[in-house]
Amino acid sequence: MFHSTIGILYVMRHVIAKAHRPVIMRYHGGMPYAPTSRRRPAHASPATSPERVYLDHAATTPLAPEALEAMMPYFAASFGNASTLYREGRQAREALEQAREVLAEALGASPPEVCFTSGGTESNNALIAGICIASRRRLGAQKAGHVVASAFEHPAVLEPVAALKRAGFEVTLVRPGHDGFVSPDALKDALKDNTALVSVMAANNEVGTIQPVRELAAAAHERGALFHTDAVQALGKVGFSVAELGVDAASFSAHKVGGPKGVGAFYLRRTTPFEPQQLGGGQEGMRRAGTQNVAGAVGFATAASRACEPGRLLAEAARLVALRDGLAARLAALGARVRMSVPLPPGDVQRHLPGLVSFTVNGLDSQTMLVSLDEAGFALSAASACSASSLKASHVLLSLGMPRDRALGALRVSMGEQTNARQIDAFVHTLSGMLKT
Ligand code: PLP
Repeated sequence: MFHSTIGILYVMRHVIAKAHRPVIMRYHGGMPYAPTSRRRPAHASPATSPERVYLDHAATTPLAPEALEAMMPYFAASFGNASTLYREGRQAREALEQAREVLAEALGASPPEVCFTSGGTESNNALIAGICIASRRRLGAQKAGHVVASAFEHPAVLEPVAALKRAGFEVTLVRPGHDGFVSPDALKDALKDNTALVSVMAANNEVGTIQPVRELAAAAHERGALFHTDAVQALGKVGFSVAELGVDAASFSAHKVGGPKGVGAFYLRRTTPFEPQQLGGGQEGMRRAGTQNVAGAVGFATAASRACEPGRLLAEAARLVALRDGLAARLAALGARVRMSVPLPPGDVQRHLPGLVSFTVNGLDSQTMLVSLDEAGFALSAASACSASSLKASHVLLSLGMPRDRALGALRVSMGEQTNARQIDAFVHTLSGMLKT
């Protein structure tokens, strides 16, 4: 029965994909795009039009209008290569360095410690490999031959850690508790005299728990290890400052905070050993070769600065917590079949992301529910977006000790600026109908 569901699912996906094939215009001379006046504004995309309810902000967010506006000049008039010396290049470099300053301020870093990349995945790969390989080269495997990560990291951390294992590093994965937190004591047990790096995410992308990064970083430092955090899901949603948390390295992604896709950044504390993984020209202070994406950097900095502005961040967090808690209460009222993936204390903003609710539905598989919900107008994820096309139970939920059968019925609602109470009501109403059939 399960496999026939998969078959139907793939056929439906194919039909849906064909019906919505994007129109990519071939250039035949003249203007390749419709004139501005005839174009739909970018922020009025189908994903946010009234008939659709977008509840997958942890997967990606709509581009903030301010970010789009700030980026526009760097697609056209100010197209220079930031590495060149003449006026066009100088203008591009100035925009890039201004973006670095604005982003650094939002991260609690100083501008030279910020390196632009192509996204969260690249930042994680560059930092994990770059720090471990440089540390082992400097100190030898006896002092820097071991790496620790939590077992519920995003694949963009787990895969580079697995690659280090193939390259001869010893690896320890620390399991989080049932409640979705990595405890400093569990980390202390995993540390060794030769631990080079510890990597624990700031906020988990599937269950939304905010990790005790400051305590975890202190525990790593006590044993002489460096500390990296994947802060892709935390930035712009909760107060975050690399300086206050005391981390040595951190990864960020633009498209999770209202910036463009394909842009990210990493923070690397000044004296941290690092061997660049992308080699070529000397861009980004020799840390990441390749002509910089000036428009992307400007869009990222604008979006991050907007999302991290303290007044806006606090107000938005309070609004989302109210929506989140309302949703959790209404889900609980649907009966014993629906359960939260981790305990979610009402009002909590310190330990749980404000807009994220992960829950499981007993007796229904998440892929089937997602297809039905999509048809009813709702966009959300089963687990992380990147693994949503496979029917494997989420490694995050399994790492919490959740039985496989239960994990296969998991859904994640992640809310953002566009989400309102009416949408949440409509979602609960539709889900409730599905449970009755
Ligand atoms: N890390 C976490 C925690 C994420 O949620 C994601 C994306 O879902 C990534 C890394 C990858 O970021 P990007 O899509 O910018 O490569």
